Amino acid sequence: MKKNNTVSLQEYNTFGVAASTPLFVEIKSSLALQEKLKDEAFKDALILGGGSNILFLADLSKPVIKISIPGIRIINETEQIAVVSAGAGVVWHDLVMWCVANNLGGIENLSLIPGLVGAAPIQNIGAYGVELSDVFYDALCINRKTGESRIFNVKDCDFGYRDSAFKNDLKDAYVVTAVRLALTKKNHNLKTNYGNVKETLAQMGITKPNIEDISKAVVQIRTNKLPDPKKLGNAGSFFKNPIVPKGECARLLLQYPNMPHYHIDSNFDKIPAGWLIEQAGFKGLKKGKVGMHDKQALVLVNYGTLYGKLLWKHAKLVMEGVEKKFGISLEPEVNLIR
Ligand SMILES: Cc1cc2nc3c(=O)[nH]c(=O)nc-3n(C[C@H](O)[C@H](O)[C@H](O)COP(=O)(O)OP(=O)(O)OC[C@H]3O[C@@H](n4cnc5c(N)ncnc54)[C@H](O)[C@@H]3O)c2cc1C
Repeated sequence: MKKNNTVSLQEYNTFGVAASTPLFVEIKSSLALQEKLKDEAFKDALILGGGSNILFLADLSKPVIKISIPGIRIINETEQIAVVSAGAGVVWHDLVMWCVANNLGGIENLSLIPGLVGAAPIQNIGAYGVELSDVFYDALCINRKTGESRIFNVKDCDFGYRDSAFKNDLKDAYVVTAVRLALTKKNHNLKTNYGNVKETLAQMGITKPNIEDISKAVVQIRTNKLPDPKKLGNAGSFFKNPIVPKGECARLLLQYPNMPHYHIDSNFDKIPAGWLIEQAGFKGLKKGKVGMHDKQALVLVNYGTLYGKLLWKHAKLVMEGVEKKFGISLEPEVNLIR
C-alpha cells in the first residue's frame, strides 16, 4: 500500500509492525536484479524475503528489493542423489513439500519454517536436528556492487549455528538468487531423535516412518507449539541458544543442577535460551502489547503494537533479566532493521 509517497511494509513482516520505505520493487529474475542493482537509487536497498526474520525498528530511509524469483527443478542426478535448484523467491515450505512429494529426502525436518528459499543460507536455517548446511550443494549469488554472478559452495558460506558468512564478512555484499540442495533419492537418512518427533510419530501410529511421515510429524509439532504469525505477530525464536565454554556451563550447573545443556564439542556446550528466559520469569509475561509466548518462551510476540521499537525494548528487558540472573548475554537471532 502506498501512502504519502511511501510504501507500507506492514504486510511484509511477520511481526506485523508498521514501517515504510520510500521505494519498493519486486524482482522476478536474476537479470532483472542485475539491472536494478545498477540503479544508484537501489544501492543500499534492503533485500527482503518473506520478512519472517526481521524486526523493523522505524520507517526506512532506504529502498526495499523484494525477491520473488520462482522455480524448482532437478538439475543433476545420480542413482542416489538429486541436486534440486530452487529460486530465491520460492516459499521454503513449498520446496519442502515438492521434495517430499518427489521422494527426495533431507529437508523434511525443516517443514513449515516460514520464509523464502533465498534467506535459508543467510542464517543456515535449522530445526529438529537438521540444518540447511547438511544438504547444501551451493548457492547462486549476485555481487551487489559489481552485479557479477558467483557460486558459493558450502565452504564459502562458512555456515555455523544460525550463522553464515552472509551475516558476517559478506553482510549485505551478495543477493542469493537460487539455492541448490543435494537430496537423497533412496536410503534416506531419517532423523527422528530430536525434540518429540519420535513420540509424535508413535502417537500417529507410525513405526516405520518415511520422509512424508516425518514432515507431517514436524508440521504437527510446530503447529501446536509455535504461534501462527497470521494470528499473533512473531518471528519465531527471537534469540539464539547461547553457546558457552564448558567451564561456564559447569559453574551454572553447580547453582542450577537441573539446567538443560547440550554438548557441542570438547570446548563448548549449548544452553536453551527458552529455559533461561523462563527461569528469569519472562515466559508468558505480557507487558502492554508485547511479551514472550506462554508456550515457547523464546518467541517474542506482538499482541497488537504497530511499533517495532516496543518489541525491541521488551527484548532488551529480557536480555537484561537473563544477564542479571545467569551472567549470560543473549544474542538476537532476528535481524534488526533500523
Ligand atoms: C513462526 C516462525 C518460526 C520459525 N522457525 C524457525 C526455525 O525453526 N528455524 C529457523 O532457522 N528459523 C525459523 N524462523 C525464522 C525464519 O523463518 C527464517 O530465518 C527464514 O529463513 C527467514 O526467511 P525470510 O524469507 O522471511 O527472510 P527475511 O526475514 O525476509 O530476511 C532475513 C534476512 O535475510 C536477508 N535476505 C533475505 N533474502 C535474501 C536473499 N535472497 N539474498 C540475500 N539476503 C537475503 C534479509 O536482508 C534479512 O537480513 C521462524 C520464523 C517464524 C515466524
